[in-house]
Amino acid sequence: MIAQVLFTALLLAGALLFARNFMRVRRNILLGRDVTINDRQGERWALMARVALGQSKMVVRPLAGILHIIVYAGFVIINIEVIEILIDGMFGTHRVLSFLGGFYDFLIGSFEWLALGVWVACVIFLVRRNIIKLKRFVMKELDGWPRTDANLILAAEIALMSAFLVMNAADLTLQQHGIEHYREAGSYPVSAWIAEQASFPAMVSGTLVLIERACWWFHIIGILAFLNYIVVSKHLHILLAFPNVWYSTLRPKTELVNMPRVTGEVRSMLDPSVQPPVVVAHTVAGVEMAERFGAKDVFDLSWKQLMDAYSCTECGRCTSVCPANLTGKLLSPRKIMMDTRDRLEEVGKVIDAKSKWEDDGKSLHVRITEEELWACTTCNACTEACPVNIDPVGIITDLRRYLVMEESRTRPALTGMFNNVENNGAPWAFGPDQRMKWTEQ
Ligand code: SF4
Ligand code: SF4
Repeated sequence: MIAQVLFTALLLAGALLFARNFMRVRRNILLGRDVTINDRQGERWALMARVALGQSKMVVRPLAGILHIIVYAGFVIINIEVIEILIDGMFGTHRVLSFLGGFYDFLIGSFEWLALGVWVACVIFLVRRNIIKLKRFVMKELDGWPRTDANLILAAEIALMSAFLVMNAADLTLQQHGIEHYREAGSYPVSAWIAEQASFPAMVSGTLVLIERACWWFHIIGILAFLNYIVVSKHLHILLAFPNVWYSTLRPKTELVNMPRVTGEVRSMLDPSVQPPVVVAHTVAGVEMAERFGAKDVFDLSWKQLMDAYSCTECGRCTSVCPANLTGKLLSPRKIMMDTRDRLEEVGKVIDAKSKWEDDGKSLHVRITEEELWACTTCNACTEACPVNIDPVGIITDLRRYLVMEESRTRPALTGMFNNVENNGAPWAFGPDQRMKWTEQ
């Protein structure tokens, strides 16, 4: 009875903590500018099914793609067993779903094979990161916490899967010993082997119960801890990948979006009957934000761009195909997304501490340098490669717009072009009156 009360209390505490942390992430995302994205809904559902659920962009790199699908399927499917663990934990039952008979045997057997697959995949992922040291996993932006975060989560998954299989091995042996409470149910293709290797049949039932209970508690506490950990780590993509893909742009990737305010101003200048656009106030955590040209800070990005930042898996596929990065430039689109998320977290902490936003004198430009921003060719290889349809280019161009339009800061090579556009209406150093001169040659 004490165990059941303790279990229910833990469950409630874990769920409440998760809800609180997740609402904080939602609050941070909504610090961004409002944009409406609800067009072509059929296409969006299909895109989400293909890219997020079907992981179509992951398998472009087959080994990593297939291993990731195993881990993802394991995460989703093995958690079906958590339903049984929850019921057993709250009511003190043993394998309450075993009334499903042959189907139950099939489920438990499948979970075991999947758990083994996840275990193997996570070990391979750790080897790729720490022993083979693939280039995209040893880049500077992953130094410190990001690398630890990735390793921690892989180690946690290995520990959880091990606990699951050892728990089943002890449970199976107790069933075979005919111990009360452990009635026979389920099929255990992997844990039967583990039980044999670990000499479980030779152990006394007290030791086996201890092992089974320890693994059971470790497994469920681990899942609750994991649930709360993903909200503060890059693994939030497990949840956000789905909405992030649904809301991703359906426009051609290379299409740069005009700023509606500027387009409206130009239209009203050219045609006096067109009203100049109305400036819409943007209030952030109780503070009205000045409207900007481009982006100085996270508030000037849209909520979708901020959701992109929280959805980034830090896989580095974008950076590994970025021509700027490949030719030795400072730019890494992955770092752009990590910097945006880190800045957003920093802003969120200020709001948490002061119950409203107070300017801390920093901005996105403190983290992302001009050298990085101007190295981008807007080729969109990064958006094409991203498995969860993140768009680093939109953030880069918005940050550049701010530099040019509000700070008058640009690259020397571009200054001449900007002057020509302003004076001649074209990037060339000739006035409009000379435009047809070439026909006289
Ligand atoms: S669009 Fe920019 S950041 Fe993306 S791959 Fe091309 S150069 Fe790199
Ligand atoms: S932006 Fe996409 S491709 Fe790049 S690191 Fe993040 S998830 Fe991976």
